[in-house]
Amino acid sequence: MTRQAITLIGGGLVGALLAQLLARRGFAVEVFEKRPDPRRVGFSGGRSINLALAERGLQALRTAGLGDDVMQRAVMMRGRMVHPREGASGLQRYGVDDSEVIWSVSRGGLNMLLLDAAEAAGVKLHFGQSLLAADLDARHVTLADEHGNQRQHDAAVVIGADGAGSALRTAMNDYLPLGIRVEPLGHGYKELEIPHAAGPNRFAIEPNALHIWPRGGYMCIALPNTEGSFTVTLFLPAHDKHPSFDTLPDAATAAAFFREDFPDLLPLIPRFAEDYDSHPVGSLSTLYLDRWHIDGRALLIGDAAHAIVPFHGQGMNCGFEDTVVLADLLAESGSDTGDAFAEFQRIRQPNADAIAAMALENYIEMRDSVADPRYLAKRDLGAR
Ligand code: FAD
Repeated sequence: MTRQAITLIGGGLVGALLAQLLARRGFAVEVFEKRPDPRRVGFSGGRSINLALAERGLQALRTAGLGDDVMQRAVMMRGRMVHPREGASGLQRYGVDDSEVIWSVSRGGLNMLLLDAAEAAGVKLHFGQSLLAADLDARHVTLADEHGNQRQHDAAVVIGADGAGSALRTAMNDYLPLGIRVEPLGHGYKELEIPHAAGPNRFAIEPNALHIWPRGGYMCIALPNTEGSFTVTLFLPAHDKHPSFDTLPDAATAAAFFREDFPDLLPLIPRFAEDYDSHPVGSLSTLYLDRWHIDGRALLIGDAAHAIVPFHGQGMNCGFEDTVVLADLLAESGSDTGDAFAEFQRIRQPNADAIAAMALENYIEMRDSVADPRYLAKRDLGAR
């Protein structure tokens, strides 16, 4: 029996996983994704090149039957490798042994695997289709392709997995205020790359760790990629003080700063000038909403409902957990999506609020406390 039709906006990490889980439960799912199909044109955009996958997210992937596939493309991170300004680097393990670890995965690789799985489960994927508007009374959405050609699509039930800048959230908020609060962190980030090394050991530094260069008010981190490179992220105040992205506007000023503050890291980034000048500064905020849904017609999930700062490495993991809860509730609810959506918010919002607070706290821990020699590694899995 084919169940209700569900329109999903956004085929990113959360949208693609949710689509597969719903299709496997018999829903007729169509996904509209703004970007072109990454499996044909290559993955572009997105907010970080790789991500830390923790047990919560992995459990959701296992539910979708994808745990083993993802593990084959993941690099184990046993703990934090802390690189102080002076003195030796040291590993702070996340757990007592390798049963308590997190994993580094490629955002693009994971997204493509999830899209393949969704398609194999019968989901109809539409790429290059950007949500412009949603008419919740007429129950249709308006989409535009990259040339601006518009079309309407019937959407009795629409779910927004369209990320932190969600267009569905804007349309829902125009219909009924959602109580949106955005709290900017005041710090931004920029990605740089440690390329893979020549020779048999492809990794220039310890592969099985999340590297941190804590410097008090700011930091660099690096996560390993399967082919031997590392994605480095510099987190720094955005404005109004030094150092900040305002006072380090180009590669020349930034290289001088790195020579002082990250002397062991700078030589590992041979394309520092190109990376620094060509990669954008990303902004970081926490998003809170009072209301995640409009009765049974429209719902927000993942970053669209609860974007957080990345310092606990839990945004995707939390969004993945959302998808399993929602798919189960919808499968149990028959055609009464209103009750399922209300129950989804009731169950998930306290979790989202808790992880948002922990993510903010963990920025101070990562950039500052871990450098204290008396600091003992916490055993909270999923902590970066
Ligand atoms: P997104 O990944 O943003 O996907 C939204 C999708 O919707 C995109 O494909 C987009 O193209 C599409 N879209 C947008 N607008 C429209 C529209 N109008 N119409 C149609 N489609 C649209 N999380 C972790 O768990 N671990 C980490 O280590 C981690 N590291 C991070 C590092 C950084 C620097 C940042 C910024 C975030 C990090 N996160 C991490 C958080 C993680 O990136 C997000 O929580 C996750 O991407 C949310 O997935 P999503 O599918 O909800 O949103």
